[in-house]
Order: sequence, then structure tokens, then C-alpha cells
Amino acid sequence: MDTLTALLPPAPIDPGLYIVATPIGNLEDVTLRALRVLRDADAIACEDTRTTVRLVQRYGLCRTLLPYHEHNARQALPGILRRLAAGEVVALVSDAGTPLISDPGYRLVEAVLEAGHAVVPIPGASAILAGLVAAALPTDRFFFAGFLPNRQAARRAALEELAAVPGTLVFYEAPGRAASALADIAVVLGDRPTCLARELTKKFEEWRRGPASVLAVSATEDPPRGECVIMVAPPSADALATSAEDIDTMLRAALAHDSVRDAASAVAEATGQKRRLVYARALELAGELAKELAEDPEP
Ligand code: SAM
Repeated sequence: MDTLTALLPPAPIDPGLYIVATPIGNLEDVTLRALRVLRDADAIACEDTRTTVRLVQRYGLCRTLLPYHEHNARQALPGILRRLAAGEVVALVSDAGTPLISDPGYRLVEAVLEAGHAVVPIPGASAILAGLVAAALPTDRFFFAGFLPNRQAARRAALEELAAVPGTLVFYEAPGRAASALADIAVVLGDRPTCLARELTKKFEEWRRGPASVLAVSATEDPPRGECVIMVAPPSADALATSAEDIDTMLRAALAHDSVRDAASAVAEATGQKRRLVYARALELAGELAKELAEDPEP
């Protein structure tokens, strides 16, 4: 009897779609339950059969691999639904980590549930949590923001939207883009404590921790190769309070001689804050100023 069979004697698995987390590098980072489902499933739907076959060979898992990725999701769906309708166990895996986390699968889960079949998560590795737990940044609240846009203007706009999130920000990043992402993080979010985690669980795992501007310089001088997670500390309470106060001060000054619209535009431009939000605040302040004036008209 091989080791896996000794550890996991065969036992029936209820039919359904199993969302199975696989390693993000080190092939030992896989749970016993994941191995059981991947061994005993009738088929494994996977992003790239060449990647999944490595896990299949290492542990002697199910050899029926069905390609399921961004480009064939629509065509692959009926086949998977047919298998589920026939009472089969289908496992979904991605190339690395947890399926659906910046990986395909969301539409499949939706469709499988709509068709009345079970969807069962088999939790395990994901670069988000592996990065977060050793970043030395707050973990009580965090916001996973996925990949930042490629183009600088869109990237800065995306960062502006995240500036006030009261938790650690977690980004996935492609290797070649870490330096520009970190530079924009420093400009838009301020020089917050930041951590770049590279090649987690792999031979060349590396951690860089420090202010965003320092990491931006480091990533320009010594570009991190391989896969990266970037994590950024939440804004300090002071920074948030000051910026809200600052905006009010700037708006009050601008409203003394400008229309609400012009005052909001000028302050949004000067602070990089979202025009819509500044406009809403400008409207409020204009109301307050008008009331103050009515109550206490100058002689
Ligand atoms: N589903 C995966 C998960 O649960 O982490 C994420 C897939 S997403 C397409 C790939 C991105 O995840 C990479 O570009 C990188 O940002 C991050 N990533 C995946 N494996 C990683 C690793 N070993 N070290 C650092 N980042 C990793």
C-alpha cells in the first residue's frame, strides 16, 4: 500500500464541484483533504494541464484533466455540468493557490449552483495570506485589491480610490511592474510601511520591508524576479484626520470666491481626491457657510 493510500483510505465523496486550493510553489503545501479529493475525483478541471500534471504525478492523483480557463470557460461549462448531473465529483484547481482568487472559476460556481449542484471549498494555500502573515503589517483588517492597472493614469486612479481604506492593502503584481507600482503607491498613498514578498514558498523566497519610496528605489535598482505580493499599511489615523481637515480648510477658502463646482474641482485637483467626493463635501460646506451667514450677517 503506498503512503497516500495508507494515510487516506478510499472513502466515498459526495458528488459536486470541489474548489481545491493547490500549492503556490512548494508542492508540499497541499492538504490531505485536497489530495483525497484530487485523487478520487472523476475529473480535475484545471487552468493549464501542464502545470497540474506536476501535482498529479507527484501524488498519484486523478489523470482526467479538463482544461478550464479564461478563454474556454463558456465552451467547457456544459461538459462539467453534464458530469455533475451524472453524479460525478469534479475538482476545480488553478495553476497556483486558491481558484477564483485572481483566477477563473467565479462564473462556474455561479452556474453550478444555478443548476442545483453542490459547491464545496477545500481551503489551502493562497499568496494573499502567505504574504500577509509575515509582512509585519496589521492583519486585523485587510483589503485585497488584486492586480493594479498597467497604465500609470489608471493605476494612480485605482490607488486614489483605495487611499482611505482603513486596513492593510494587498496587491498581486507581475514581476516586471513592481517598481512602477511601488513608486505610484508612494506618490498616491504616501510613504507608508510597505512589504514586497517574492516567490513565496519557493527556493528564492524574498522579503523587502520598508517605506514605499525605499522599496520603489530598491525595486528599480534590483528588480524582483518572479511572482510578487505587495502589502501596504493602512493610513494612520492622523493622516486621515489631517487630510479631511485640510480638505475642509481648502474648500472653505475656495468657496469664499468660487462656485461650489469650481471650488470642488480645484481642491480635488490639488489633493488628488475623488472629484465626486470633494464635490459632495463642498456642497455640505456651502450649505453650512450660507447658514452661518444668515445667522450672523456681517454689519
Ligand atoms: N490563485 C492564486 C492565489 O490564491 O494566490 C493567485 C493567482 S494570480 C493569477 C497570480 C499572482 O498571485 C501572481 O502574479 C502573484 O502576484 C501572486 N502569487 C502567486 N504565487 C505567488 C508566490 N509564490 N509568491 C508571491 N506571489 C505569488
